[in-house]
Amino acid sequence: MRLTHETKMNFIRDNISSLHKRIKEVSGTCKRNPESIQILAVSKKHSLDLIKIAYGCGLRHFGENYVQEALGKIQDFNPPNINWHFIGPIQSNKTRAIANNFSWVHSVDRLKIAERLSAQKESSLADINICIQINVDDEKSKSGFSIKEAINAVPVIKNLPGLKLRGLMAIPQLRQSLNEQRKPFKKLNDLFNEIAQGMDDDSCFDTLSMGMSSDLEAAIYENTNIVRVGTDIFGPRE
Ligand SMILES: *Cc1c(COP(=O)(O)O)cnc(C)c1O
Repeated sequence: MRLTHETKMNFIRDNISSLHKRIKEVSGTCKRNPESIQILAVSKKHSLDLIKIAYGCGLRHFGENYVQEALGKIQDFNPPNINWHFIGPIQSNKTRAIANNFSWVHSVDRLKIAERLSAQKESSLADINICIQINVDDEKSKSGFSIKEAINAVPVIKNLPGLKLRGLMAIPQLRQSLNEQRKPFKKLNDLFNEIAQGMDDDSCFDTLSMGMSSDLEAAIYENTNIVRVGTDIFGPRE
């Protein structure tokens, strides 16, 4: 089915407005400022015309998972106030492209990747904002640092030139109830606080990237400040 531009525009605008409402409602319940929660629009597998519509609705942060797909989009649409975030699995032969095209990388899942991003970023570009990905449910099939590994990696990553260690990211397993969804997010928040305590006053360790379309309420309860939302903005992916 081919949708008209107007249909797409109404669809995205309504989705974004419902999303703002959800964030506001749960923020009220847990006494948080909704402004402290950034929406990262996850645009993987969606076309540039939908991204432009979301941008037109005020969104400025977009998340992509696949390097080739993302580079094409960034080349065609890169207004000065847009922020492209890389959130997908990282192969080491893609770090140069990622370092030089994204202002954020959420999915740093091993030390080698951080070191390559640091070494390969062109010096004229701003520091890359980095989140360490945590394998919060200890799943064999999933990438990410264990909690122990993350604690050891922080002092190393923190000192790599060209990177700003901003925080932690996780993609927990799907869980049904709000209470169950909150458990891994609480684990991540506790780890965040533990690491933050050891940071210098001038550090910019201030970010928890957690919560997606189906569990963002639980993440807000546990102090997230970036929710990564794809489906509930752009609709289902192929
Ligand atoms: C695809 C993806 C999302 C968005 O998921 P939705 O369920 O569509 O909101 C968020 N984070 C990561 C890392 C993803 O790969």
